[in-house]
Amino acid sequence: MVFEGILVHRISYKERDLIVKLLLRSGHVGSFYVYGGQGGGKKQKPTSFELGNMLRIHLKDKKSTELMVVNEHTKIWTPQHTRYNIQAFYLTCLYFEILQKFATPFQNSEFVTDENEGIFSVVSNALFYMDESLGKKDFVPEQHLSLFMIKLLFHLGIMPDTDNCSYCHTELLNLESVSFMPANGQFVCPQCTVSVENEKGFLLRIKKGYQTRYQDYLDLFGTTFREGDKLIQFFCHHFHLKPVELKTYSLLLK
Ligand SMILES: [Zn+2]
Repeated sequence: MVFEGILVHRISYKERDLIVKLLLRSGHVGSFYVYGGQGGGKKQKPTSFELGNMLRIHLKDKKSTELMVVNEHTKIWTPQHTRYNIQAFYLTCLYFEILQKFATPFQNSEFVTDENEGIFSVVSNALFYMDESLGKKDFVPEQHLSLFMIKLLFHLGIMPDTDNCSYCHTELLNLESVSFMPANGQFVCPQCTVSVENEKGFLLRIKKGYQTRYQDYLDLFGTTFREGDKLIQFFCHHFHLKPVELKTYSLLLK
């Protein structure tokens, strides 16, 4: 059996082995055991099993679907710049943490459907274009975070309604001022709330982000970490989590 996926989690086991989790092309997360996966040893072998690497792996046998043993592996892609930029590295870790809160574990290839494939493309594009932006020296972390969260929420089918006030159904685009409530992911008109913050810009950027292709990430300008934070809060609320449960969250949103 052959799998391709992005390494999203790794734990050292025994002296030189690893247990890794890969986000597979199907959008599922599979767990794999890698003998000697830490590299090193007498020959100081480098390891291919670093966070964010895209790998193709061949399995030894397929008796156990709980933990599959890697026989051979090839590195398909590795980020060139991300590991040298602390914010980009934190973002990568945050994406992987968020992903593991909702992704379905890989069970058996016979039952794999393609309904989760969008998740793989969201995550792989996020990593690829973040690395590219670092190479081009136009990396703006809040831009990448917002774009990732908008694409992710869209693929999960839980985008906030950006068209109508969630209480009175007034059209929001015509209004000068709107408010956002992350707890339920709703935009509301000024008649229906006492909030003083005008979040019309945020609303327009969600619409924009939804239409922006990943390679055009620079088009999503003006976004802030606070907006990324609101999208994370909304995600967490939906999955009954607290943002503090995401370890990388506090490092990013200082
Ligand atoms: Zn209203």
